[in-house]
Amino acid sequence: MSLAPAGRGGKAGTMPAIPSVDRVLNLPAVRVLTEAHGRMLTLDAVRQLLAELREGLSGKLELPADAFAETRLAAVLEQRLVAARQPRLRPVLNLTGTVLHTNLGRARLPDEAVSAVVAAATQACNLEYDLTGGARGDRDDLIEPLLREITGAEAATVVNNNAAAVFLALNSLGLRKQVIVSRGELVEIGGSFRVPDIMARAGCRLREVGTTNRTHLKDYAEAIDAKTGLLLKVHTSNYAIQGFTATVEEKALADLAHQHGLPFMVDLGSGTLVNLRDHGLPQEPTPMDSLAAGVDLITFSGDKLLGGPQAGILVGRRELIARIKKNPLKRALRVDKMTLAALEAVLQLYRDPDRLAARLPTLRLLTRAGADIERSAHALSPAVSAALAGTAQVEVRPCHSQIGSGSLPVDRLPSFCLAMTPLRRGKGEGSALKAIELAFRRLPVPVIGRVSEGAFCLDLRCLEQPDLLRAQLGDLRF
Ligand SMILES: *Cc1c(COP(=O)(O)O)cnc(C)c1O
Repeated sequence: MSLAPAGRGGKAGTMPAIPSVDRVLNLPAVRVLTEAHGRMLTLDAVRQLLAELREGLSGKLELPADAFAETRLAAVLEQRLVAARQPRLRPVLNLTGTVLHTNLGRARLPDEAVSAVVAAATQACNLEYDLTGGARGDRDDLIEPLLREITGAEAATVVNNNAAAVFLALNSLGLRKQVIVSRGELVEIGGSFRVPDIMARAGCRLREVGTTNRTHLKDYAEAIDAKTGLLLKVHTSNYAIQGFTATVEEKALADLAHQHGLPFMVDLGSGTLVNLRDHGLPQEPTPMDSLAAGVDLITFSGDKLLGGPQAGILVGRRELIARIKKNPLKRALRVDKMTLAALEAVLQLYRDPDRLAARLPTLRLLTRAGADIERSAHALSPAVSAALAGTAQVEVRPCHSQIGSGSLPVDRLPSFCLAMTPLRRGKGEGSALKAIELAFRRLPVPVIGRVSEGAFCLDLRCLEQPDLLRAQLGDLRF
C-alpha cells in the first residue's frame, strides 16, 4: 500500500497533499512500532518524516520512488526509533592500552560489586539504619570498619570522588587559613582539577613554597606562621619531574607539622591498598605507608588503582575525620547507596589478598602476563587480517600499556597489540588510518584503539572477551 499523494510528479504550482499524521499512525506496520516504542516517540518520528516528505514534494529534498510506500515508511520510522532509543552510555571495548582510562569509565567493577549494586538498587536497604538498635544510623558506618581494618587508620569517611575529598578536607581544616604546598605539587589532574583552584574555592589561602623542581624542609618551616592551618602534600601522580629534584619525605613533614600543632594531609590520588610490587608491578605509595610516616589525613580515589566505584576516600585521625563529617558540605558530597554497595564489595576482596588479582578486574588486567596477551593477539590476527583485507596489513606487535588515571606515569607495562597499517601509502594514508579508526568506533560495541607509528593499534591487554571482537569483525565498514 502506498500513501503517495495524487498528482505527484505533476506540474509545479499544484502542491499535492501529504498523508495526515493520523493516517500514517494507523497503518498496521506503524501501529506495531507504536506498540514497541511508545506513542510519543513514534508520533515525533512520524511528524519529522512527514515534514521531510513535504520538503521532498516541494523539490527541496530528493525522494526515492517508493517514499510513500507503507513498508518503506515503516522501515524508515523503525530505523530512527531504534536509533533514538539506543542508550547514549554504552559499553565499549577499551583497547587503548590505558587500563584505567578516565574517558572510558576507569575501573571495571568485579562481579561481587555488581551483585551488591543490583541488590542495593532494587531493594530497600539499611543505608542509614542501625539494624541492632533499630534506630537511625550513619551511612559511613557501613564502610568505615572495613577501611579501618584494611588501612589501619583510626577513622574513615567517603565522598563522591577524590576531588571532592580534597575539597572537603581543605574546607574543613583550612578555611580562611594558609595551606602550605610545594610549588612542584601544584598539579592539574585532567581539565578541571587544579590544586590552586580547588584551594581557592575551598576558602583556603595557598602558600607555595620551594621551586618547581626542588623543595626543602626549611622552605616549609620558614612559611609556617600564625595563619597556617594545614600542610599539604599532593602526590604528583600524572607526571614525573626527573633530574635535579628534591622533595621532602612525608615523615619529615609530619614531624614538622606536629611540632607546630598542625595537621598534615596527603592527597595520594590513586592510593592502592596493596603493595603493587608483590604483584610484579611498580611501587605506588599506599595510605598505609603514609599513616606509618605520621600523616594525619589521606585522600584517594575509589576508581583508580583501588579498582572500585567512583568515590573519594578519606582516612586518618579520628578527630580530623569527625571535623570533616560535621562540615555541612559533607552532605552535599556524600555517596549514594549504589556506590557504597560497590565499594564495600570491592573492599571485601582486599581481605583475601591471595585471590585479589584473580577477582579484581583492575589488578587482573594490570598483572596479565605478556605471553597470554601475545597468544590472544596471534589467535585473533588471522580473523582481523581477513576483515581488513585490501585495506590494511595486520601484524602482532609488542607495545606498552599504561596504568592510566595519572598512576605511575613513567612506568609502562609490556604488552602486545594488533597493528593495522593502511595499504595506501603517502597521500591519503592519514585518512585511511582515520577510516579504520572510525570503522572500529562504529561497531555495535565500539572498539577504541590508538594510533601509533602509522598504525591503528588494538592493545589486547584489556580484551577479556575476544569473541566479542571476533563476532563483530564482519560489521566493519571502511
Ligand atoms: C586523580 C586525582 C585526583 C582526583 O581524583 P578523582 O577521584 O578523579 O576526583 C586528585 N588528586 C590526585 C593527586 C589525583 O591523582
